[in-house]
This record gives sequence, C-alpha cells and structure tokens, in this order.
Amino acid sequence: MRRLSPWAVGPLIAGVFVLLTWQERRRPLRKRIEPSTGHCVRNLAIAGVGALTMVVFESPLIQPLARLVEQRRWGLLGVFQLPVWAEAAAALVLMDYTFYLWHVLLHRVLLLWRFHAVHHVDLDLDTSTALRFHFGELFLSVPWRAAQVALIGLSPFTFGVWQVWFALCVMFHHSNLRLPIALERIINRVLVTPRMHGVHHSNHPEETNSNWSSGLTIWDWLHGTLRVAIPQVTIEIGVPAYQDASSVALPKLMQMPFEDQPDYWRSRRERAGAAAQSKIRSSAALIFLRTTALRRVGERAAATNKPV
Ligand SMILES: [Zn+2]
Repeated sequence: MRRLSPWAVGPLIAGVFVLLTWQERRRPLRKRIEPSTGHCVRNLAIAGVGALTMVVFESPLIQPLARLVEQRRWGLLGVFQLPVWAEAAAALVLMDYTFYLWHVLLHRVLLLWRFHAVHHVDLDLDTSTALRFHFGELFLSVPWRAAQVALIGLSPFTFGVWQVWFALCVMFHHSNLRLPIALERIINRVLVTPRMHGVHHSNHPEETNSNWSSGLTIWDWLHGTLRVAIPQVTIEIGVPAYQDASSVALPKLMQMPFEDQPDYWRSRRERAGAAAQSKIRSSAALIFLRTTALRRVGERAAATNKPV
C-alpha cells in the first residue's frame, strides 16, 4: 500500500505558503485593506481550528474508508486496472470536478453559505485566505468527501495526492501575487490563477457567482461560469454587508454562521438608508390615513350637523 509521507508533504506545503506570502508582499496584485500581520494571524487562527476539526472528524473516517475502497476495489476507478500514475491523474481530475460542484453548493445552499461566507468576508485576499475556512464548513464537508472517496474509488495514496494538489492550487490562486499578465494568461488556460480567483472574491454577486473551479479552469469553461478580463483595480474584495474591519474581527467570524444573517449583498450604509426610507414612507402613510380619517369624521359630522 503506497502512501505519501507526511514528513515530505508538511514541509512542502509550509514552504510554498512561506514562499507565496513573501512574494505577494514584494509584488502585490491588489492594494491591501488591513495590516498584513494581524490579518495573517487571524486567518491562521481560523485555520488552526479548521485543521483540528479535520483531525477529529475527517481523518478518522476518510482514512479507513480509503483503505477499504482500495482493498475491495470500490468506486469508478476500482473498475479499471490503471497504472498508479494514471489512477492518480484520473482521481485528481474527478476530485477536482466534484469539488467544483461542492463549491457551487457552498454558494447556492443557504445553510452552507452561512459557513462559506466566513471565507468570503475577508477584506483582503492573500495566501492566508486560502486556509481560512470556518470549522463548520469543514465539518459539513465530511459526508461529501466520504462520498467522493467511495464513488470515485480513492486509495489513501490517491487521496493524499489530491490533498497536496488541492492545497498547492488553493494557496496559489488565493495569493495576492502579481504575475506578468502574459504568463498568467498562459497558466490560466489550464489552472485557476490569482486574477481569476480575485473575481470570485469580488463584492458583486454576479462576479462571486462565477469562477468556482479550484484547480483546473475547464469546469468553469464547460459550465459557462468563467469570468476573466476584469481588471483587478476595479474589484473590491469581500461581501458588502461585512465591509468594516470591526465586522470581521476573529470572535465575530467564529459566531457569524450561527447569527441572524443580513442581506449579504447590501452594505450597512445601504441597509441603513433603506431602513430610514421605509420609516419615512410609513410615517407618510400614517399621516395620510389620519387626515383621511379626520376628513371622513368631519364630513359625517357635517352631514348630521354635529360638532366634532
Ligand atoms: Zn467561494
């Protein structure tokens, strides 16, 4: 039974994280909103709770399941006797596509969006955002992951290959790294890039509801959800209802999915304006009703010749 060594995988992922964090500070793609150190520490704190959730809830289920899938040749890949490299490549493509579908659900199903929104309300988009997922989202993704492993037919090895691929892709496209545009366009023919994913983190709903791929670009292309060629200077990162730094402080982010949800796509100012307007409208309606009622009483009194 082949396995990826955590002694190789851990330093590789940590090394790429450090490299991207260093490079995005030297060549930033978008202007930062929050101070970078506090932002990074906050995102790593959320990531720490998320990692613990996966250790407690995901690994104890997925690892034995993948072993069973390998022994019994379950799932789609179990039907074929592919060489290891071909099986790993096929697993990667199928996991990538089913993760695209999961990402669509994270945005479309309100219960899932409550949790995924914690990732999206980040005011800056950088490598640390790639690790910032609410523990509730990771917990809710466990049944989906188990179904992926069982139906696709992932062994512990192919699952490990996908995990590494996924972590590297996600850190890369969340990074605030300014690549030469010509190079980014070439990479973007195959992989999701920082500019492409920046559009997904825009505070315009029609832009957020696009670019759902997390590894290969092809899924957005096939589903007609690909949106590129939007200049990054025109993009505001985040969700309008959570635009001030005070609304995205660490304790608030942890509680966010469990609280009453605002109208995400309207800013606080817009909501306050709308509330003031509806107040004015209801007082105007009240005045109208009162004057009409008084006039009617007056008319009736005049008809019966009684004082009012
Ligand atoms: Zn998303």
